[in-house]
Amino acid sequence: MYAIVDCNNFYASCERVFNPGLRTTPIVILSNNDGCIIARSNEAKALGIKMGAPFYQVEDVLEQKGVAVFSSNYNLYGDMSRRVMRLLYEFCPDGFMQYSIDEAFLDLDGMGTPEQLHQSCIQLAKKIGRSTGIPVTIGLAPTKTLAKMASKFGKKYKAYQGCCMIDTDEKREKALKMFPIEDVWGVGWRNRDKLAYYGIKTAWDFTQKSEGWVRNLMHVTGVRTWKELWGIDCVDVEELPHKKSICTSRSFQGEGLTSLGDVEEAVANFAASCARKLVEQHTCCASLTVFAHTSRFRTDVPSSYIYHTGTFQVPTNNLQEIVSQAVKLLRDEWKVGTYYYKKAGVIVWDICRDNAIQTALFDPIDRNKQAALTKAINEINRKNGHNMVRVAVQGYSKNWHLKSEHLTKQYTTNIKDIIQVKS
Ligand SMILES: [Mg+2]
Repeated sequence: MYAIVDCNNFYASCERVFNPGLRTTPIVILSNNDGCIIARSNEAKALGIKMGAPFYQVEDVLEQKGVAVFSSNYNLYGDMSRRVMRLLYEFCPDGFMQYSIDEAFLDLDGMGTPEQLHQSCIQLAKKIGRSTGIPVTIGLAPTKTLAKMASKFGKKYKAYQGCCMIDTDEKREKALKMFPIEDVWGVGWRNRDKLAYYGIKTAWDFTQKSEGWVRNLMHVTGVRTWKELWGIDCVDVEELPHKKSICTSRSFQGEGLTSLGDVEEAVANFAASCARKLVEQHTCCASLTVFAHTSRFRTDVPSSYIYHTGTFQVPTNNLQEIVSQAVKLLRDEWKVGTYYYKKAGVIVWDICRDNAIQTALFDPIDRNKQAALTKAINEINRKNGHNMVRVAVQGYSKNWHLKSEHLTKQYTTNIKDIIQVKS
């Protein structure tokens, strides 16, 4: 079973923690330089205030309706996220997979029967609310796509007490029939019209088509979604679509990594991968979070949990800037001593379109020059493979390389793995 834990209206909830008087007041959060609305509380959504609306256009309306307006405070949101994620990590250290700044998956395999998991997730949601002040909703299901669907039901209906579970075929069928197809993770509005043409309105309609039919229309990603809706677990957190933030993380092989150099190299590569994705989707980020943690199975050695957020003065998708920020944040939090880091990752968030950037007056970086360099690097890498041109700290040692515990050796391509003949 998977759980997805999602903070409700995260930015608005963070503001409420320190302004309890606003518990029932509609809240909106503005982007950098108070440009437009990037987050809304439920009350603000109910008033019909639109996401992305420029602040100056709606300022009067907001005042009339008594909406509390906040500039975005990413240092606060980053720290509140750290508190929530820390609790989730403690609940399930080895199944913990952060997905975005306010969402994480937990792989709960082997942690109990569905009913036990349901009960412990209800308690977990309560505990997070009590300890951090942030309300969360948990969706529980055999696949990540169904878990996300469950969390949407959980948000809609109070009676679920913060945790909705889809564990039987009966519940799955009922949920699918109530769920619009475009709201399914990975389907989106782009496919909506195409599917509507074939009379597919709900997730259930979609599952009634054959695998071959889905493959023809939506290729392999569509088939994965289709399988997930049937309860077959086949999507990796890495492959899930991202909107608000991009997270790149990996588990490390064997004992884990102990040296700063190795973790640094891994983090640099994760940051580079985030930068590449930002460029691909024509976006920039203004905040970056680095995390690294040890395994719970090692009770004989001390545990460590690093989680550190920094912001950029000007939103960026520049490779060098993102990599050096990630490495700097890691170094700031690095603890002296021997810790076996089993997992690390980088999240870039606070994302905006790359053509809507507000520049700073005293920006030390020549953005035009940087953009030309980035373009040239991306062009070379596109032709010759990812990371052909790289920032030095990304390195080549690859000690951090992916967890693939069931991988056979590279008998034919790596000199260290050549089979030895006994003499
Ligand atoms: Mg959320």
